[in-house]
Amino acid sequence: MVQSSLLEPIAPRKRVSVLLPLPFPGPLDYAVPEALAEHLSPGDVVAVPLGGRRETGVVWEPTPLPTDLAFPVSPEVAASRLRPIRERLDLPPLSRELRRFIDWVAAYTLAPPGMVLAMCLRSHLRSIQGSAPAAGWVRQGDLPTGLRLTPARKAVLEALPAGAEPLTTTELAEKADVGASVVRGLADAGVLRSVVMPPPPPFALPDPLHRLPVLEDAQAIAASELRNRVQERAFSVTLLEGVTGSGKTEIYLEAVAECVQMGRQALVLLPEISLSAQWMDRFTRRFGVRPAVWHSEIGQKARRLTWAACEDGTAKVVVGARSALFLPFSDLGLVIVDEEHEGTFKQEDGVTYNARDMAIVRARLAGSPVILASATPSLETLNNVETGRYRHLVLVARHGGASMPDTRVIDMRETPPPRGLFLSPVLVDGIKARLERGEQAMLFLNRRGYAPLTLCRTCGHRMECPHCTSWLVEHRRKHVLACHYCEHVEPVPQACPSCGETDSLTAIGPGIERITEEARSEFPDARILVMASDTISGPSATAEAVEKISRREVDLIIGTQIVAKGWHFPHLTLVGVVDADLGLGGADLRAGERTMQLLHQVAGRAGRAEAPGEVLLQSFSPLHPVMQALVSGDFAAFMTEEAEQRRPGFWPPFGRLAALIVSSEYADAADHAARDLGAAAPHGEGVEVLGPVPAPLAVLRGRHRRRLLLRTHRNIAVQPILRRWLAQVPLTSSVRVDVDVDPVSFM
Ligand code: ADP
Ligand code: ZN
Repeated sequence: MVQSSLLEPIAPRKRVSVLLPLPFPGPLDYAVPEALAEHLSPGDVVAVPLGGRRETGVVWEPTPLPTDLAFPVSPEVAASRLRPIRERLDLPPLSRELRRFIDWVAAYTLAPPGMVLAMCLRSHLRSIQGSAPAAGWVRQGDLPTGLRLTPARKAVLEALPAGAEPLTTTELAEKADVGASVVRGLADAGVLRSVVMPPPPPFALPDPLHRLPVLEDAQAIAASELRNRVQERAFSVTLLEGVTGSGKTEIYLEAVAECVQMGRQALVLLPEISLSAQWMDRFTRRFGVRPAVWHSEIGQKARRLTWAACEDGTAKVVVGARSALFLPFSDLGLVIVDEEHEGTFKQEDGVTYNARDMAIVRARLAGSPVILASATPSLETLNNVETGRYRHLVLVARHGGASMPDTRVIDMRETPPPRGLFLSPVLVDGIKARLERGEQAMLFLNRRGYAPLTLCRTCGHRMECPHCTSWLVEHRRKHVLACHYCEHVEPVPQACPSCGETDSLTAIGPGIERITEEARSEFPDARILVMASDTISGPSATAEAVEKISRREVDLIIGTQIVAKGWHFPHLTLVGVVDADLGLGGADLRAGERTMQLLHQVAGRAGRAEAPGEVLLQSFSPLHPVMQALVSGDFAAFMTEEAEQRRPGFWPPFGRLAALIVSSEYADAADHAARDLGAAAPHGEGVEVLGPVPAPLAVLRGRHRRRLLLRTHRNIAVQPILRRWLAQVPLTSSVRVDVDVDPVSFM
């Protein structure tokens, strides 16, 4: 597959289609110069003229997509009027499998195919540029006397301490966050010395026999099923469902082992890869080496090497974020999506795609099995199991006989916290008891900052973001009010900006800073660790925090959803959910399902080892089905009930949805376009359009937003309907319409 250009027939051609990484509706046609006529194949990377520029693109051929999804072909241009391809670049071609995948994603999401290619090509082009033996920089002895040390130069020196591994100009400039000229300036000044970069380290081969697990019976059965799927070398989807701690990771690593044993490549998608230190350690324990890693923060060099190692097959296991789907695997033998229910698999900006769903497309094109793992599978996936499209493996018990935590609801109406506080006496006592026994406790609240709303007691004015329909969240440690939807930050004012009254602004409601304040006064002797994305940033800080917890240097953990990830904290025995109702409000179709999944995952942190765990949910609606399901642990019954709610209205998974988000700097332009789209809305048997309505986030980053929602019966594809619909409504340049197929967010 690597040599796809050798396998595909080469016929002399006069014209070819070239897909450019730009937002055109499809590939453009170019003439093929004599000299290239016999040497050009689909997938080749070529340089072409575009306007006055030179662009890099990929020779494309029409791929057989389902007619529903096919995108428009560019209009015929007489061959004589076509501009010629400039040259064929000396780069590995994009395989047919990857090209088909790009076409699929574009067609399914209605993104311009060039934009999908762009996600792919960005790394590819870099891989090429860096493939020549690169020169790097190291520090040269002492600093020359009289060297002028600007802040930019200082940053470079800090980024490259004496004795550190060499970095290329680009890497160094990127790391120090300065221009390349600063680096060159320092080289000229004799501070840096040029060296030849060492050759890239090979991606070490995972050893499937390094440390074999001893599996329990149920685990062994599931593992052998999964190994069989891998051996089949055929497309299939298996849901691996099991409560937290049942050993799902342990088991799917056996499928990875099988895949490596066969000499093929495995891809594991994790929802939050930068928070996966423990996962990496487990992989290393099992296979003796670290896996290749792919996410947006890995740095250019690693990106280049990983891309190349996927292409030449040396990287056997890649664990990555969504974008790892676009790596050029030469022999993909297995795809795993861990925590398949996670909303973070949906990319919301640029090309709007769901990596879980596209992983299945990728695997189908590769003819490989997929494993979806979750303790709380999505209704979509459960429905696919029910209708026989997916296989199902279930683990009912925790590993080693550990019991599931005992979950109770604290009725906040009956045992409310004292005025101005947020922890019920029941929860406070529960935590005290644990701390006295030397056990760990955790408080979970999915809200950063001190308070979600700042209100004037005198006039009722609410502090809002000037650019978004949202309240400003107070961050007391930083003394600011911040918008959580854009970058707007302002100092907390002394006086109310509306009535001018001083000392009248009051914090309403809790964020985790406020809970931390309360906890410090309730548990003065406890060693508290706060875990939120703005207090603990990056993989190493997270790993360090997790280490501290494991070493029992922490008594009470207070965190946002980062604490819900698959951590294993053996000494943690109590989890308190500060606001279990948060997330149940709003118009989100999946609000109940999501809250259930999140809280189940948080609860799963408790009592993973010998000590039994306890979960306390603070709620004002203890009879809500979500609370009842968490208490009974009967997740299946809850999901059956969810399904029955969604079925009659043809809500997913019983129907299909696509959202149109109309936005403009000007409110009336947005309204106008939304009305036009509404007037042209498709209708018919099984096809319905809801809206237009102002989006819940009616203004975001200064853009006014309106939403329309297309809903069809399951057997009706939304793509052709959307294409016809959008083609009918001309838009002015001040208006943008974003298409979101299978929306996850309804904001
Ligand atoms: P899940 O992914 O279902 O939450 P894990 O695979 O993370 O479960 O397993 C939970 C814990 O139990 C982990 O610490 C894991 O190492 C341990 N574990 C699971 N199965 C076994 C086994 N067969 N032998 C030893 N440890 C196991
Ligand atoms: Zn804002």
